[in-house]
Amino acid sequence: MSKPIVAIVGRPNVGKSTLFNVLAGEMISIVKDTPGVTRDRIYADCTWLNSRFTLIDTGGIEPDTKDIILSQMREQAEIAISTADVIIFITDVRQGLVDSDAKVADMLRRSGKPVVLVVNKVDSFAKFMPDVYEFYNLGIGDPVPVSAASRLGIGDLLDEVVKHFDEQEGDDEDDDRPRVAIVGKPNVGKSSIINKLLGENRVIVSDIAGTTRDAIDTVIKRNGTEYVFIDTAGLRRKSKIKEELERYSIIRTVTAVERADVVVLVIDATEGVTEQDAKIAGIAHERGKGIIIAVNKWDAIEKNNKTVNEFSAKIREILSFMPYADIIYISALSGQRLPKLFDHIDVVIENQNLRISTGVLNEILMEAVAMQQPPSDKGHRLKIYYMTQVAVKPPTFVLFVNDKELMHFSYTRYLENKIREAFGFGGTSLRFITRERK
Ligand code: GDP
Ligand code: GDP
Repeated sequence: MSKPIVAIVGRPNVGKSTLFNVLAGEMISIVKDTPGVTRDRIYADCTWLNSRFTLIDTGGIEPDTKDIILSQMREQAEIAISTADVIIFITDVRQGLVDSDAKVADMLRRSGKPVVLVVNKVDSFAKFMPDVYEFYNLGIGDPVPVSAASRLGIGDLLDEVVKHFDEQEGDDEDDDRPRVAIVGKPNVGKSSIINKLLGENRVIVSDIAGTTRDAIDTVIKRNGTEYVFIDTAGLRRKSKIKEELERYSIIRTVTAVERADVVVLVIDATEGVTEQDAKIAGIAHERGKGIIIAVNKWDAIEKNNKTVNEFSAKIREILSFMPYADIIYISALSGQRLPKLFDHIDVVIENQNLRISTGVLNEILMEAVAMQQPPSDKGHRLKIYYMTQVAVKPPTFVLFVNDKELMHFSYTRYLENKIREAFGFGGTSLRFITRERK
């Protein structure tokens, strides 16, 4: 199931980043251990009660002249409308209702998206409540008073947000067709790949009923199977500011990856693999999605019999956190090896959904433990009683042990390798949870 996406929109200085940090920092479940990936606060994984969602902050560089403020806010709102399931529109009780708030509220209302109107900086309800009522004039529902700085009203705000999730359920869920996101830096050839696939296969115009997103997905039928290629065309922006472009690119990636089963990370052969590729790859890895690394523009470089190996070695070095992902060398221009992409997608989906019985897992565990003793500390040795698979997409294993503190990540890595030796699990990350059983 894909997690809902919640976007924050609002004028400069109303408290977007403060609210973002409160929501992300307190109800966190951030996966911190993706090496090589610096986390910027553009998105975060949040949990409230039984709901999990991805929060994105659409606000980038803060402009200071009035006319730019409005055009930037329109852009933010457009991004939110085209990607989010629920939009948090944040205003400031101290500045009161201003003209640009009304204009953005109009846009949001017309989009038909669920909007939660937040009035921030209500540090004292007694003092500021009378000023909150004015915000009813925006015509986008009841204002929710909060103080992000003193963490007042945050629970009520989250209740309002998650209420909208229920209305939306079943959007992607009814659909069991494989969902594929093509991601990568600008100009690596993402659109060219889709276009080439479109040219060579049967195309069905998107017919996903009741979709609340503006993005039009492309459905491609191959050998009797329909694949949904997630489209985020609405997010292709022409900002001149480099940081803004990168921000859009990250939001685009996060929101596409969130909805996907399988992510195709496209790398440009003519540029080689870069830290920016690692950042994008990290988003798919930490979300536990299936992944395929596709080196595109393979037609455009000089090759000899060492080129593939050298290229692959470099990718393994920079993307060291995902040794499980297959690498394929393609050309959107010539179509070389492009049909093979579907075979890879099929395999990755199968592996994401693979379930291993507890009996078989424990045979592997026993053998692994016999070959290499678990770690110990001050004469106290880790005992692993048994292991069981509790989830798929990604495959997740629980290890029951005597003392969690004794588990070392290198030993988890060792067990992971043993499981992979036996079952492969190519194209998918594996998760391990350690639980104590006294
Ligand atoms: P952004 O530009 O919308 O991201 O706004 P920031 O989160 O950077 O906040 C702008 C200013 O408002 C900062 O000085 C914050 O400390 C302040 N601020 C944020 N939330 C509150 C609040 O609930 N009450 C008060 N009094 N100040 C706040
Ligand atoms: P996107 O920004 O990732 O969607 O990239 P595009 O699909 O727009 O491609 C960017 C540029 O790379 C265009 O000029 C394409 O013609 C070119 N391009 C894309 N795929 C290939 C390829 O396989 N080989 C070569 N030589 N050029 C390619």
